[in-house]
Amino acid sequence: MTKKNDLLAKIVALTKRRGFVFPNSEIYGGLRGFYDYGPLGVEMKNNLKQLWWRWMTREHENIVGIDGAIIDHPRVWEASGHVEHFTDPLVECQKCHHRFRATDLLDEKQLAALEGKKHEEKEYLAALTKMLAGKKCPDCGGPLSAPREFNILVEAYLGVVKGEKQKVYLRGEACQNIYLNYENVRQTMRLKIPFGIVQIGKAFRNEITPKQFLLRQREFEQWDLQWFVNPREMEKWYEFWKNERLNWYRGLVNDQKKVRLRQHLPGELAHYAKVAFDIEYQTPFGWKEWEGIHWRGDWDLSRHGQYSGHDFSVVDEKTGEKFIPWIVETSGGVDRTFLYLLFDAYQEEEVKGKQRIVLRLHPQVAPYKMAVFPLLANKPDLRRVAWQLYQELKKEYLVAWDERGNIGKRYFAQDEIGTPWCATIDFQTLKDGTVTIRDRDTRQQERIKLDAVKDWLKKAINEK
Ligand code: ATP
Repeated sequence: MTKKNDLLAKIVALTKRRGFVFPNSEIYGGLRGFYDYGPLGVEMKNNLKQLWWRWMTREHENIVGIDGAIIDHPRVWEASGHVEHFTDPLVECQKCHHRFRATDLLDEKQLAALEGKKHEEKEYLAALTKMLAGKKCPDCGGPLSAPREFNILVEAYLGVVKGEKQKVYLRGEACQNIYLNYENVRQTMRLKIPFGIVQIGKAFRNEITPKQFLLRQREFEQWDLQWFVNPREMEKWYEFWKNERLNWYRGLVNDQKKVRLRQHLPGELAHYAKVAFDIEYQTPFGWKEWEGIHWRGDWDLSRHGQYSGHDFSVVDEKTGEKFIPWIVETSGGVDRTFLYLLFDAYQEEEVKGKQRIVLRLHPQVAPYKMAVFPLLANKPDLRRVAWQLYQELKKEYLVAWDERGNIGKRYFAQDEIGTPWCATIDFQTLKDGTVTIRDRDTRQQERIKLDAVKDWLKKAINEK
């Protein structure tokens, strides 16, 4: 069994060793809070995004997608409330000038005492200041400043003339583009309430202390649904999406007990939310947010209405009532999904005295769907047949090819990256046209006809 506290270290090492995730700018010493996805990582991440997109847009009615820009007009972030409220409490060491998220310096008891208090309230800062009194800089032991609220929007500057550059923000949450295009989408697609707009895209936050690998980064990807409803139906739809999303995440993992819904305490609510539930995952370091299900009400469209002068109200054709649509938001992290699925999938086992690492990923999530091997690389007949099978499967799936070393080692190498099945061409193949298929999870083998492999694989991927 893997000890809980070193699971993260093992996953960081495995994802680097096998080409899933690399630290960004590593040759320059790295940049905190940034990661690059490698050849296997990008395949897995694309699989996840495709699963989410297809499920949202094809298995539900009235949901369409957009792909918005990362930089919007700076007024967007004033209207959204982020310029004013998107903050974390920060302290700075007066000697070495290192900065810390103030809450990272507190113990669990102190954190519990702050629960339910709102960031921007005086009472919160006063309680925090009291708790930090006497604490020293964890890096050099120097004295710490009083805590202050630090805005985590990432700024950028546009324009070529120095002094005339315009300050803009890299979007702090991807969903704002959906509100900006709400009217364009509604009209061009002739949508009637209730309907939804989805988007998968990058968001940027100046997190004071990025940590825990992909869990808290400064650049990350979100998948969002904004579901626009008649206010009278808000409750019904909020319940619907809460359960719909919880079940979707549960369908991706092996251990469903590690996924739960948790309601936010009043003080935890974001500035735009009246009610919020988080879908959470039990990581090695406790329950952590996976996706937020937010009751955004009319906050967004009303604020953009006030700031832009645009009227977002609609008229119900049947009843004639006029209203600004309310919004149920489901906003989850693509990178967190990637990380949590690795936590869920990672296992170490002893097989005939040898240790194997296996990623029990869902076949639809795994980078490779199958690996094809000739039993012996130096036998041209075996190699030729195997290569033909590989080429045929490759037209439809990402398939691995391996002819190095012995077969046992090849199996183990595929287990470690989550490949669900391996097909081996051996001498019997040349006699009777059958091939051995070996299952990653059970290590069982079965023989099937060479020309049936493609259909078999299709069925196996969809049935799992
Ligand atoms: P947290 O409380 O963990 O900071 P949040 O409540 O600020 O998260 P939201 O603003 O609701 O998060 O964003 C929606 C989703 O985006 C989160 O559920 C999470 O999966 C993802 N996310 C948010 N911040 C980060 C980050 N810094 N790195 C990676 N993913 C993130």
